[in-house]
Amino acid sequence: MGIKENIEKVEQNIKAACAACGRESGEVKLIAVSKTKPVPMLEEAYANGCRDFGENKVQELVDKYEIMPKDIRWHMIGHLQRNKVKYIVDKVFLIHSVDSLRLAQEIEKEAAKKGVSVNVLVEVNVAGEESKFGATVQEAVSLVEQIVQLPHVRVKGLMTIAPYVEDSEENRRYFAKLKQIYVDIIHKNIDNVFMEELSMGMTGDYEVAITEGATYIRVGTGIFGEREYTVI
Ligand SMILES: *Cc1c(COP(=O)(O)O)cnc(C)c1O
Repeated sequence: MGIKENIEKVEQNIKAACAACGRESGEVKLIAVSKTKPVPMLEEAYANGCRDFGENKVQELVDKYEIMPKDIRWHMIGHLQRNKVKYIVDKVFLIHSVDSLRLAQEIEKEAAKKGVSVNVLVEVNVAGEESKFGATVQEAVSLVEQIVQLPHVRVKGLMTIAPYVEDSEENRRYFAKLKQIYVDIIHKNIDNVFMEELSMGMTGDYEVAITEGATYIRVGTGIFGEREYTVI
């Protein structure tokens, strides 16, 4: 199957998952995760309606940003090093991977310099996997409370990367947990928090994530096919 058919298939699945749980399909936004994929493949996705693209490396995001049309919303979904923040603050639509106050402070500093506000999600390692980045469940609320003090950083919601599993139902509890933290934060009525987005679900488990409340799903393989990592 080509990219066009893959996108159609994912969109059908989004509709079906929404219908099954009584949500409007417009509530779920699809991010085409284009990391490692060449520009012509992104152009094909663009030609078939994709305007949200996800990348996990700063250099790759910046390179593609320069080449691709300017109405694309770029999502930084990978671990972000503080010394690279300056390259993307004025290019990204949303940073999904803020997991420490120090990183948020660096985003604040660079955003203030460029006179922009940066939308971020706080990444939570809900499953507690040692190999993954993200704030712990225990830290998440206080981290949000601290980040909202920064005038050029806007907390728009939460993100998680669930474990790789054979049976996507196994991840339902993690998506439900992220939703619960999100609701807890809303109930705290913290000034300057705009809890609107839950970024959860990838190729293997996005339908389950949708039924648990995802507003952004991040789909790479399901659109572009398997990734090949070349060792340099
Ligand atoms: C690579 C990646 C995805 C997409 O994964 P697929 O399984 O290919 O859909 C989603 N989210 C993050 C954070 C990623 O790094």
